[in-house]
Amino acid sequence: MNYVVVDFEWNQRMFGKTPADNRIPFEIIEIGAVLLDEDLNEIDRFSQTCKPKIYKKLHYKTKEITGISQKELSGSDTFPYVVVDFLLWCGDDPVFCTWGNGDLVELQRNLKYYHLDDLLEGPITYYNVQKMFRLQFDPEHKAESLEAATDFFRLPKKEPFHRAVNDAAYTAEILRQLDPKLCERQYSVDYYQNPKTKEEEIHLVYDDYYKYISREFSSREELMADREVRSVRCFKCGRTARKKLNWFVGKGKSCYCLCECREHGNIRGKIRIKTTDAGNRMFAIKTIRLIDEEGADKIREMKQEVIEKRWERRHRGSAAREQ
Ligand SMILES: [Zn+2]
Repeated sequence: MNYVVVDFEWNQRMFGKTPADNRIPFEIIEIGAVLLDEDLNEIDRFSQTCKPKIYKKLHYKTKEITGISQKELSGSDTFPYVVVDFLLWCGDDPVFCTWGNGDLVELQRNLKYYHLDDLLEGPITYYNVQKMFRLQFDPEHKAESLEAATDFFRLPKKEPFHRAVNDAAYTAEILRQLDPKLCERQYSVDYYQNPKTKEEEIHLVYDDYYKYISREFSSREELMADREVRSVRCFKCGRTARKKLNWFVGKGKSCYCLCECREHGNIRGKIRIKTTDAGNRMFAIKTIRLIDEEGADKIREMKQEVIEKRWERRHRGSAAREQ
């Protein structure tokens, strides 16, 4: 099994110039990657720029940050050619590693734009090195950027940041600093290509939480009425948890509930409702987490706030009608 630590640079619309194409807000202009063996030794590097087709003029910010020139891009192949080369270079069933969770989404969006989406089957299981670094070394999120994490380990900084292959190499170096035993259980799943059927639904059990990604539904109501979506089982013992507060719409339109496992105590359920990339259907991301009494109080308070707000709104409404 090989790891592909990959990074992309992208260009975007210049304000007031080309109209933005919602299907592809960020156009990939450079692919850089480092191929690693099972022991994280470097086997090979991939580095190519792509000639932009949608946002042809390089955004001044992109130019400033990456140092890529318009001339360099105009002499390059376009994305469809470069990405096919890249995916062939990756070999069979590569395990992708990225800094952050954005790169694979943009890769799939760019592929879809050119009708090449069948080249990369999803949902993609990958390693988000930024997240793993955070979990293992930086719980307070002090070193958000790749450069800050590089400094954290006092790694040499020979090449400039924000060129794709350099960023991939720095990410690989950080990956080598992490605890491999912990990494094994800290993988992520990218659900840009979200599950379509019950069989494709994703159930992930981590040390301290459980995550479920549902199939698609046509409305919020249909989604929230689904048995599997609403169910809360303790992910430590598998028992159905007793509901103390049923699902309610809380902060940021997410749904919350409070449950209890006889053996493991308080459990928080949270459902985020995501719209599919096509924009017409929705799916649920449910997380189940063990919480302490303080955490349980927070949920109770949130529910109380929601009730009070609703009451206020109704009251104001009726007051307005009376005038
Ligand atoms: Zn339990």
